[in-house]
Amino acid sequence: MSGLRARPGFLDRAGRALADPLTRRAVAAATDRFRTARRAALDALDDPEGLRDRARAIRAATLARLPDLIDRLEERVRAAGGHVVRAATAAEACGYVAGVCRERGARLVVKSKSMVSEEVGLNHALGAEGVRVVETDLGEFIIQLAGEPPSHLVAPAIHKSRRQVADLFGLASDGGAEPDAAALTAWARARLREEFLRADVGLSGVNFAVAESGTIVLVTNEGNGRLVTSLPRVHVALMGLERVVPTWNDLAVLLTLLPRSATGQKMTSYVSFITGPRRAGEADGPEEFHLVIVDNGRSALLGTEYEEVLHCIRCGSCLNVCPVYRQVGGHAYGWVYSGPIGAVLTPLLAGMETWDDLPLASSLCAACTEVCPVKIPLHDLLLRLRSARVRRGLAGAGERLAFRLWAFVAARPAAYRLAVSLAALAQRPLVRDGHLVRGPAPLAAWLRDRDFPALADRSFQQLWASGRLDSAAGSGDADAGGGTR
Ligand code: SF4
Repeated sequence: MSGLRARPGFLDRAGRALADPLTRRAVAAATDRFRTARRAALDALDDPEGLRDRARAIRAATLARLPDLIDRLEERVRAAGGHVVRAATAAEACGYVAGVCRERGARLVVKSKSMVSEEVGLNHALGAEGVRVVETDLGEFIIQLAGEPPSHLVAPAIHKSRRQVADLFGLASDGGAEPDAAALTAWARARLREEFLRADVGLSGVNFAVAESGTIVLVTNEGNGRLVTSLPRVHVALMGLERVVPTWNDLAVLLTLLPRSATGQKMTSYVSFITGPRRAGEADGPEEFHLVIVDNGRSALLGTEYEEVLHCIRCGSCLNVCPVYRQVGGHAYGWVYSGPIGAVLTPLLAGMETWDDLPLASSLCAACTEVCPVKIPLHDLLLRLRSARVRRGLAGAGERLAFRLWAFVAARPAAYRLAVSLAALAQRPLVRDGHLVRGPAPLAAWLRDRDFPALADRSFQQLWASGRLDSAAGSGDADAGGGTR
């Protein structure tokens, strides 16, 4: 699967991210804004929970008859004059788009935001064919100049400050721009306008595809999507298999939730509905329209305990509330998808053997599940992946031994009591003011930045048995740990 990054693992990447205060500040500030706006936008609805339940039901019903809906979508797109190809793998998707470019003699492709194109490594594949791909979404344009992958589902350059963006633009030209939002946008607009006018092919993603009419829907805050899909002679749209919705009524529910959950907007600045290529008598639009429906591991998830991950509408709100993502940003996750949805989706699509550490990158606080507009139980899926990791023998020898010991001790009360008493004795040289201040690995890494309450000299059970529980609680009994265990 293209686009994959080999080791180092999550901990190394997260360590690098944590050492970068600029990135941490930028990510925290942006995700705070998104979270606040989302909450206000959903609170303004009459029945946000009811709407989320309906959205979840729509997604579940869609997956239950996905093959039929894809057939219907294909039939309607073809009836509207478009071409449809189903790509089972990343290589097939890239091969098809490269073939379209080759046959039309295309040398320049302008592209609007498409996570699935990142997933299949399309830019790289087209580059290898001598086709230049220019990202035209402002965030994607910035990270393309920086040579980086996206770090957020809806805001790919969330980790960049204005100063960093101005420096990048300066490197890309003699003039560059001032670190001011309006000036930076104007600079990018002037530069991209030339590319739009010269491009042979426009490439877009698909937020939703309506099966009953063969219409693709693009939800965006920038006008680049409309230029990409209407100026070049050929428009190629890439969609993940699961992005289909049965009807316009279903779309209305999902469209009510997507922008509110993503950015807190009632609706984004642009919502485009595209059904096939330009028709006779229409003023603009492409001569050819191609829809590439990408599977790349998705259909293998249908009917499994992970199926619900395909409900995702890529709003990004689970990232904005995740205490891990908010500290380390998107690049720590190592692939295209980040945050809780990335920690679930990446091992499933790109291989548990390579990405088995991502499901561990979570505190399991379930904040992600609470905000997900389609109610994906993300923290449950993370737990299932952790369990699968152990069943497949991917956990390290130390971890396996530790949990075997824990299981042995926890199942035997006498052994448990003995182990706790021995641990309380053994910790003494490591305790200061009731807290562990150092310890052996892996505790040492935890204690580098935090303290940890020490085990009390006398356990809860001992105090209970001696009838001294009340006085211990009231007086903070003279235990090394200052409490009970
Ligand atoms: S998992 Fe839910 S919250 Fe996260 S991006 Fe997908 S739809 Fe949004």
